[in-house]
Amino acid sequence: MDAQQLLALDNAHVWHPYSAIGASLPIFPIASANGVRLKLVDGGELIDGMSSWWSAIHGYNHPEMNRALQAQIEKMSHVMFGGLTHEPAVMLASRLIELTPAPLQTVFFADAGSVAVEVAMKMAIQYWHAKGQATKRRFLTLRGGYHGDTFGAMSVCDPETGMHSLFRGVLAEQYFVDAPNCHYGEACSDDDIAPLRRQLEQCSDKIAAIILEPIVQATGGMNFYSADYLRSVRTLCDEYGVLLICDEIATGFARTGKMFACDHAAIAPDIMCVGKALTGGYLTLAATLTTEEVSATISNGEPGLFMHGPTFMANPLACSAALASLKLLTDSDWSLSIKRIEAGLENGLSPCRALSAVTNVRVLGGIGVVELKQPVDMAVIQPMFVEQGVWVRPFGKLVYLMPPYLISDRDLAVLTAAVVKVIESA
Ligand SMILES: *Cc1c(COP(=O)(O)O)cnc(C)c1O
Repeated sequence: MDAQQLLALDNAHVWHPYSAIGASLPIFPIASANGVRLKLVDGGELIDGMSSWWSAIHGYNHPEMNRALQAQIEKMSHVMFGGLTHEPAVMLASRLIELTPAPLQTVFFADAGSVAVEVAMKMAIQYWHAKGQATKRRFLTLRGGYHGDTFGAMSVCDPETGMHSLFRGVLAEQYFVDAPNCHYGEACSDDDIAPLRRQLEQCSDKIAAIILEPIVQATGGMNFYSADYLRSVRTLCDEYGVLLICDEIATGFARTGKMFACDHAAIAPDIMCVGKALTGGYLTLAATLTTEEVSATISNGEPGLFMHGPTFMANPLACSAALASLKLLTDSDWSLSIKRIEAGLENGLSPCRALSAVTNVRVLGGIGVVELKQPVDMAVIQPMFVEQGVWVRPFGKLVYLMPPYLISDRDLAVLTAAVVKVIESA
């Protein structure tokens, strides 16, 4: 099919993320991808600034990733996980336990990030049920968060941007406090943490867990907040007897400059969700990790098992991709790569600070954000980026970059220059 045929059928029949059928917003057919370049069907290449939403950390069509998947296909692509087990799953679980904070000791494999969040929430509810505290079944979270699109996950997303009003009566009602106002690198005072403390004082008997994105509130607004704040949350959770769920689906696997964002604050959650970059962007896979205490309590309580089990749980191909991706990551000097990207983003995006349309430019690890005064017009701005030979997908007032870790300094400079130029002329 040529680009025209593809687009006609796509426009008539295919839903895209947060889209409308027949909306005729610009959309670009991709034929293949290699390294940090996406190849368009009608010719031309784009330097990837998105890592396919945090996931393709090693770029595309990576020979070692390909080899690992080909080898696994020859053995088995899938086998049910009820009553059976296999080396890719067991090895991946062991590896995740090594890499994450020490108290996390068990791994539940899920098929996508949203499912990993559902699993985390169910674990917290079952934990308190098993401890005879069945009233603790709601969640406390931060405004400006994003945790996925299934109903449980949606209920803890920001109520405004998540359009909770549209789903009133169906969506569980949770407790919210304002997003942290103390920025990354700054201290945080008792005032900053007071709203959270107040909620816990009033209703910790109803709260199973606090769920949040550590350090970086990603899709909900790219808010980089104080490690002090996260440390205080951990302390409050212990003080008031609620679990802490850290959703590391966006931040995990070195994107923020630490292997996990929790590591900025040197804390361990009771439950952690990982996804997105887990398989290096090759296949869908996520995981929910928890402590000995939580898994033992659930397993020894009523009904004596954890109530979840997806058909494609621990898919061997996805687990093999994850093992290969983790090997590439941990064999590399990832800390240095992220520092290099951080410097390139800071350097390349800093001219945006002088633009009248811009309110803020911030960089943390491999994430560079330009915040605008007005939301972008996607119909206008998206083709402008493509014209510049880069793939950048803004949302709302945010134009942001999170390139694959192996991007060269030269490509990074092209990417940031394109952002400056497009914002300037839009
Ligand atoms: C993307 C994301 C999710 C949802 O993951 P999916 O794989 O899209 O279901 C959950 N939490 C965070 C922090 C995310 O960034």
